[in-house]
Amino acid sequence: GSGTTSTDARARMVQRQLRRRGIHDERVLDAMGAVPRERFVPEDQRRRAYRDGALRIGEGQTISQPWIVACMAQLLELDGDETVLEVGTGSGYAAAVLSLLCAEVVTIERYESLARQAGATLAELGYANVEVLVGDGARGAPDRAPFGGISVTATAKDQPPPALVGQLAPGAALVCPVARGRREHLIRLRDGAEEAIAAVRFVPLVSDED
Ligand code: SAH
Repeated sequence: GSGTTSTDARARMVQRQLRRRGIHDERVLDAMGAVPRERFVPEDQRRRAYRDGALRIGEGQTISQPWIVACMAQLLELDGDETVLEVGTGSGYAAAVLSLLCAEVVTIERYESLARQAGATLAELGYANVEVLVGDGARGAPDRAPFGGISVTATAKDQPPPALVGQLAPGAALVCPVARGRREHLIRLRDGAEEAIAAVRFVPLVSDED
């Protein structure tokens, strides 16, 4: 049945797109092998769900390439007991992956339609430790802070939103794509130190804070 097909497609994805390209955290690889990505994309995109690329999910937004989702999750170096903040719920796929790596995920999406759809998919699949909020994720979720990791899945201009940096627990990492001039890079911030990880393309972070 289709269950077997998607299990096989996932195993191939983990091997070819992730393991071979430097994703080494076994917990992350297990999570990527477990979440049914096809359930997070529109019906007409399902046969493309395990391709090595991003896919359209509506409202001009995209679900990130599997490698990017795995890379960002790996960079957070989660132990399992953290509360993680995600900015940019989109389809809910990355939130589902993160939910298998920590205690709780709080994820914020600015489009109510996407948040509602993502919440429904996550509930249907039984990801009970994910809370989907609608709003401007650049402000974070001050009442839930500090976070043991923050993942921003839309590109900020120059720097990660300062409000988010202030909601990190000591030693916790924030991963965020930033645009500087014409360059767009994924960066990791931890205890005030920044590392550039890889050149990336995300949709822009749209915030009232600008
Ligand atoms: N993580 C998603 C992909 C996200 S695409 C997944 O796994 O499917 C980026 C998302 O960020 C889009 O849905 C976009 O609407 C959202 N977004 C952009 N700016 C935002 C903001 N300020 N607050 C919350 N969400 C935002």
